[in-house]
This record gives sequence, structure tokens and C-alpha cells, in this order.
Amino acid sequence: MSRTSDQELSLRRAEDTLALLKSHGPSGGPRSFEVWYTHVSGQNPALSKALNEMLARGSELTLAQIEQLWDQYISPSRFASHAEKTSLGVLNEIDSVMEMIDLAMGSTSQYSRSLESLTSDLDGVVDRNRLRDVITRLVRATKETVATNQTLEARLQETRGEIQDLRETLESIRTESLTDPLTTLANRKHLDNMLLSAVDHAALSGEPLTLMMIDVDHFKQFNDTWGHLTGDQVLRLVAMSIKGAVRPTDTAARFGGEEFAVILPASSLKSGLLVAERIRQTVMGRELVKRSSGEALGRLTVSIGIASYTRGDTAAMLVERADKCLLEAKRSGRNRCIADGELNPELSHVA
Ligand code: GH3
Ligand code: MG
Ligand code: MG
Repeated sequence: MSRTSDQELSLRRAEDTLALLKSHGPSGGPRSFEVWYTHVSGQNPALSKALNEMLARGSELTLAQIEQLWDQYISPSRFASHAEKTSLGVLNEIDSVMEMIDLAMGSTSQYSRSLESLTSDLDGVVDRNRLRDVITRLVRATKETVATNQTLEARLQETRGEIQDLRETLESIRTESLTDPLTTLANRKHLDNMLLSAVDHAALSGEPLTLMMIDVDHFKQFNDTWGHLTGDQVLRLVAMSIKGAVRPTDTAARFGGEEFAVILPASSLKSGLLVAERIRQTVMGRELVKRSSGEALGRLTVSIGIASYTRGDTAAMLVERADKCLLEAKRSGRNRCIADGELNPELSHVA
């Protein structure tokens, strides 16, 4: 489909959505828009079916029904990857609608401006009065057009504002659905998705790919001694140490509890091991202090397992191998990094 027909389709969908919202909706909130838009786009047949059944019972949807549809069919937690794809698609479509609105709004006033400048350009031309007369009439006609368009433009402006709000809401919902709230690193779901595509990419491109699993040592004991809230603060600090040691193109994530993972695309096992060492030393080097009281909490250490992609690996196999190395690091005394190649030299991908 061409870009123009893509844009036309987007605009039509946005118009249809607004029309449906007006006739059936109690509210124009972002969730209503998302529900109706998803329905109009035909991307979620289950949602459309449920929505049509609700409409068969009454011509207006209540806010509770909108919430129900959103929770059941759009909510990121229930249909994680689908919702993510949908919201990405909606964001892209919104961009094209915005572009079109800008274009439509700009063109009329631009027309008027260029005619006005044409009038002054005509000064000095033979038969000036006649020409001026013609142009003046043209300008007047254009101004009338502008005036009649003003209501439409005001509505477009309003819609533009609403769509901008919707865009920001979707953007933040999307970011939220991919982020671990405690540490602000990627969450497990985001990690899983990124790892699947990283494995696909490595398989197709032949580029290396390395994964590390990081677990805080004796963290239960730390929590038991200093309390869960202090434990949370320290987890944030460990997360920041990890983030600070990796590249922006790497994905640092909270795997769960006091366990973290980092995907290092285009990195060999050897460079992964260097990064892991840097993380281990940074964490170990920090003297922990309780913020509220200034009390010294001692130091923490981490154990790290590192594995690289080998041909035929699935994401799960890679995780399992990195995890095995992590266990080995724990077994052999903690506060250390163990790479898969060291355990199984035949699997080594050292560059
Ligand atoms: P090991 O060195 O073998 O990893 O020992 P460990 O104590 O770190 O491991 P274990 O799995 O026995 O305990 C993990 C502890 O991590 C349990 C729990 O108290 C703590 N923990 C998990 N998630 C959180 C969290 O979100 N916040 C805090 N404060 N603690 C957490
Ligand atoms: Mg632990
Ligand atoms: Mg653990």
C-alpha cells in the first residue's frame, strides 16, 4: 500500500473512531479511543465480537463496559505482545493523521498568503488597476474560503490536541508496560521479546550475541538484616551499576527478584566476560550507606553467568546455559563471573 493510501486509511479510521465515540460512547478518554480504534481497524476480532454483542444490548457503551473491553482485550498484561504491536501500530497511524491535519491546515492559509504577496508583486505592471482589481477579488474570495473553513480548522485543531494527548498516553502506557517499576530497567516481558529478536538476528546475520545472568549474593541475609525497603534501594543501586556498565544498544533487565539479565548484541563471549567483570567490580566497590541514617551497610557482591549464541540455539537454550554458569559461579564461591566457554570449551565463541 502506498504512503498516501496508508494515510488516507489512517485518517478514515480516526474519523470513523471519532464518529463512533460520538454516537455510542459516554467518554472520549484515551481508553475509549483505543477500544473503538482497535475495533475500527479490525485488528482484534475478539474485541469487535464482544463490542458488537454489547451494542446489541444497548446503543451506548458505559464506561464500565469500555474498561471491561480494554482490560480483557487490550490490557498489556493479558495480551502483552499483541497490545504492544497494536499500540505501536496505533502510534504510527496517529503520526500520519497528525501529518495530514498539519498539511490540510497549512495549505489554506498558505494559499491566502501567497495571493497577498502576489498583489504587491504586481505593483508597476501595465494595466495595473485592472490586474489589481482581479487579484483583490481573488484575495477576497480566498479570505471568504478561509472564513468558512475556520470552523473546520478549529475542529481539526481540537482533534489534533486530542490525538496528541492520546499519543502521549499510549507512549507512556507502552513504556510502562516494558519497564520494571522498581529499577526502571527493562522488565521480564521486554527482555523475553528482545532476546527472541536478538536470537533471530544472530541466526540470520551470523553476528555474535551474548547473554549474562546476574544474581545478588546472599541477598536474603541482607534483607533480613536491613529490611526489605533498604533491600529495594540497594536493588536500584545494583541496577544502575549494571546500566552504567553496558552500552545503550544492550538490554539490561530485571529478570525477577534480585536477579538481572543483560543482552549484548554483536558481542563475543570474551567481551561479555569483560563487561561482566566490570559490573562485578563496580558492585563490590560500593560501600553501602543507609540514606536516612547514614548507617554503614557493608558491601554486596554479585555472581554472573555468561553464554554466547551458538548455531541452532533457541532463546530458552541460551538463558539455560547462562543460568548454568551462574549456578556454577554460586557453587564455586560467589562474587565471580563464569563464561560458558570455560565450562564447555567446544561451545566457546571467544573472538
Ligand atoms: P544466593 O547468594 O544463593 O543468591 O543467596 P540469596 O539469599 O541471594 O538467594 P535467595 O534466592 O535465597 O534469596 C533471594 C532473596 O532476594 C529473597 C528475598 O528476600 C530477596 N528479594 C527478592 N526480590 C526482592 C525485592 O524486590 N526486594 C527486596 N528488597 N528483596 C527481594
Ligand atoms: Mg541471590
Ligand atoms: Mg536469586
